[in-house]
Amino acid sequence: MTNASVAERPASNAFEDALRQFDAVADRLGLDAGMRDILRHCKREFTVNFPVQMDDGSVRVFTGYRVHHNEARGPVKGGLRYSANVTLDEVRALSMWMTWKCAVANLPYGGAKGGVIVDPRTLSKRELERLTRRFAAEIGLLIGPDEDVPAPDMGTDAQVMAWIMDTYSMMHGHSVPAVVTGKPVTIGGSSGRVEAPGRGVLFATQKACAYRGVPLAGASVAIQGFGNVGSTAAKLLDDAGAKIVAVSDTNGGIYKPDGLGDIDAILALKHEHGFVPDGHPGEHISNADLLELPVDILVPAALEGQIHARNADRVRAPMIVEGANGPTTPEADAILDEKGVFVVPDILANAGGVVVSYFEWVQDLQSFFWEEDEVNARLRRIIDRAFDEVTAIRDAESCTMREAAYMLAVRRVVEATQVRGIFP
Ligand code: NAD
Repeated sequence: MTNASVAERPASNAFEDALRQFDAVADRLGLDAGMRDILRHCKREFTVNFPVQMDDGSVRVFTGYRVHHNEARGPVKGGLRYSANVTLDEVRALSMWMTWKCAVANLPYGGAKGGVIVDPRTLSKRELERLTRRFAAEIGLLIGPDEDVPAPDMGTDAQVMAWIMDTYSMMHGHSVPAVVTGKPVTIGGSSGRVEAPGRGVLFATQKACAYRGVPLAGASVAIQGFGNVGSTAAKLLDDAGAKIVAVSDTNGGIYKPDGLGDIDAILALKHEHGFVPDGHPGEHISNADLLELPVDILVPAALEGQIHARNADRVRAPMIVEGANGPTTPEADAILDEKGVFVVPDILANAGGVVVSYFEWVQDLQSFFWEEDEVNARLRRIIDRAFDEVTAIRDAESCTMREAAYMLAVRRVVEATQVRGIFP
């Protein structure tokens, strides 16, 4: 196997992919031209160039985005991404996927997403705080508990959410915990929120195994991305009896066909060395290799566009559970379908994050907090129900899981749009 580093990122455009996925379902549902036009557009797109004072006294200008795709079903919801590769089209795609994801889970939200073009690892903690607070002030025009509720995504975490909550609260003269989710529990965060996307991946995988009639216990699993979603999914799937044989991050991955062993020990090594492979006895592989391993379940949990037209026919896993948003391009989807690969799509498989964000928002608005057991039990109910609704459509329509999930979601958003009518 090769030992190349970062997975090659294909030249696909995430927003074009998102539109193609939508168009295919719009055709199936026979949507009229006006409704298609509404849903193909993001309602608001905010771009801001803002200065940040660096520790050495110099000033750097950063670019950030906040996009609202659709708010027919409620206030908009979606994460904030800090990455050197963020583009407006990527944020548009992610905001559209949030609309569908919230609708699949039947949450009273529309879809949004944001991002700043920055590699957070290159900033000191104080620089990261100043950047976050300034960006929070700039998007203060848009965000609020009844308007737009950000959450963590790639490159952001509970600390970043705490700074946003504090900045917004300072601007309003009182504490407003419900303005963001994914906060630390001490300031109104929800128990179980950090683990929620990974826990949702576990629940979706359990449902998928039951639906396909294959055991999860003993199943071999490869996971691309070892951040919040990937590492939690690895731990919980391991606890559930699956055998994690490969994990990776930007630097590449490690592979051990008989199982990597203690996931906590791999996390500890990552914290010590900065990257997954360093210091681990498993075979070192590239991200591209990981996607093509002979495993029972593949969990892409890094970023979009990883399974594409050029590698889809080499995927050997019979089941893919999408921890990341948009990891499979439409071309790859067609190839995987042809090969009979069962794909649990992102808008269902990784909905755990936004579901528990919804619980956090509800708890903040009521100032009444739940035990983690209650959070996890409610999360399971919502993922199970959404999975059953999607498979019912798949069985009735003989389509893919993605097409079925999109049909469920788009129908719900169309219904909300129609019943609200067009203002004025
Ligand atoms: P994170 O920043 O915690 O972790 C991202 C991981 O991906 C890191 O291990 C990083 O090294 C790795 N990575 C980045 N680029 C890579 C590349 N080119 N090849 C291989 N690995 C790479 O982010 P996260 O919150 O775990 O998010 C991961 C994915 O899950 C994203 O698509 C995100 O949108 C999605 N997601 C996140 C949440 C959430 O609540 N955090 C919820 C649902 C979906």
